[in-house]
Amino acid sequence: MAILKVAQMGHPVLRRVADPIDPDIINTPGFQQFCDDLLETMDDYDGAGLAAPQVHHSIRVAVLTLEDDRGPEFFVNPVVTPLTDETERYYEGCLSVEGLRAAVDRPCRVRLEALDRFGVPKGYELEGFPAIVVQHEMDHLDGILFVDRCDTSTLAFLPEYKRYGPLDELGDEPSLDLSDLEDEDLETEFVPLPQDVD
Ligand code: ZN
Repeated sequence: MAILKVAQMGHPVLRRVADPIDPDIINTPGFQQFCDDLLETMDDYDGAGLAAPQVHHSIRVAVLTLEDDRGPEFFVNPVVTPLTDETERYYEGCLSVEGLRAAVDRPCRVRLEALDRFGVPKGYELEGFPAIVVQHEMDHLDGILFVDRCDTSTLAFLPEYKRYGPLDELGDEPSLDLSDLEDEDLETEFVPLPQDVD
């Protein structure tokens, strides 16, 4: 097991379209070790998800926690298909874009198909927060960062976000897994916003 270094925005690995994974390598010790390392790295950074390109491996696998009771899950060669034009707005952050937050509108219902870390096919229909997180992570496999999709007028540095940002307005709204924040109030990578904000 090893904690891997997380690439920061500006590193070209974050902008490549990652390579599909050959199903024949899935059940090899090397790939399984990589999955363990990806998970350990996500846990160490308190992230909600982590995609292989974020740790300098340009291959199509990501780990993420969709629901706490299911725990972290691996998605190999995932395909995400929006099931609605309706969008939901969340404030997003990213382990590879340290210190920035911004609001992103994404389709709020998607279908996700992928192999698990042992090569078994699986599929889900996801709504709300899990649908949003999946799209954020899968974007990493296509070289896309949340700042590419965000409402740029909402971009904020962390101290300013903390001081003036929507958390103040949202009061006790639940916050979900953030990466690089020390402050307990802000331990979230995605902050739900009411639809009518902005
Ligand atoms: Zn990210």
